[in-house]
Amino acid sequence: MNAPLNVDAAEVAKFSELAHRWWDLESEFKPLHQINPLRLAWIQESVPLKGKRVVDVGCGGGILSDAMARCGADVLGIDMSGKALGVAQLHALEAQTAGVTYREVNAEALADDMPGQFDVVTCMEMLEHVPNPASVVRACAKLVKPGGWVFFSTINRHPKAFMLAIVGAEYVLGMLPKGTHEFAKFIKPSELASYCRESGLDVQGMHGMAHNPLTGRYWLNADTGVNYMVGTRRQPG
Ligand code: SAH
Repeated sequence: MNAPLNVDAAEVAKFSELAHRWWDLESEFKPLHQINPLRLAWIQESVPLKGKRVVDVGCGGGILSDAMARCGADVLGIDMSGKALGVAQLHALEAQTAGVTYREVNAEALADDMPGQFDVVTCMEMLEHVPNPASVVRACAKLVKPGGWVFFSTINRHPKAFMLAIVGAEYVLGMLPKGTHEFAKFIKPSELASYCRESGLDVQGMHGMAHNPLTGRYWLNADTGVNYMVGTRRQPG
């Protein structure tokens, strides 16, 4: 018997339902559009993307995939929401983005098909939506070439994240639909770092992402209490 897929169908359905709004800058996806330049700049500081082969795991409507392709990378975006991928594909056509393709496959299956074939792997705001995040981290480590870079971002299982990412964003400010995030699925930086180490990924740097809801501004800082990003490299050889 095949092992069950590491996919929570209810989670994917939430994103499918909102799919038509991925590129609406005032929609539920506004925060992803707002943080996109920050995360893109941070990735590029570690590894200039021009000419690199990249896989974006859990790419959704392609906000980051599209931006990385525009930097000259050859990007494959993967997700389990066919609807989100349809929107991503349509956006690439409309915006005439070259160098991006999308495929409905999960990270583990792609890693079996294409091990060690990517210079860079990105997996942003996705680990907190899967049943077994460590398995996704392992798959990302398998997808990247020895010495290549893997970037993750997720939300910390910290009381501050409960207040800001759930109570604040979903209930007070209404930035996200209620039920978007589940506290128990948030991941502590120490847990993510240990999944990385167990998969042969060395953590190179970690940043928190701060947000001022009054001004709408986001910036990177050292506070990993809510949203945070981790840059890692697969051990060479
Ligand atoms: N990475 C994108 C989108 C984040 S939203 C960005 O940061 O802009 C989370 C995405 O993860 C959704 O598109 C959802 O469909 C996808 N997802 C959830 N579970 C998944 C799984 N098991 N495999 C692949 N994608 C998954």
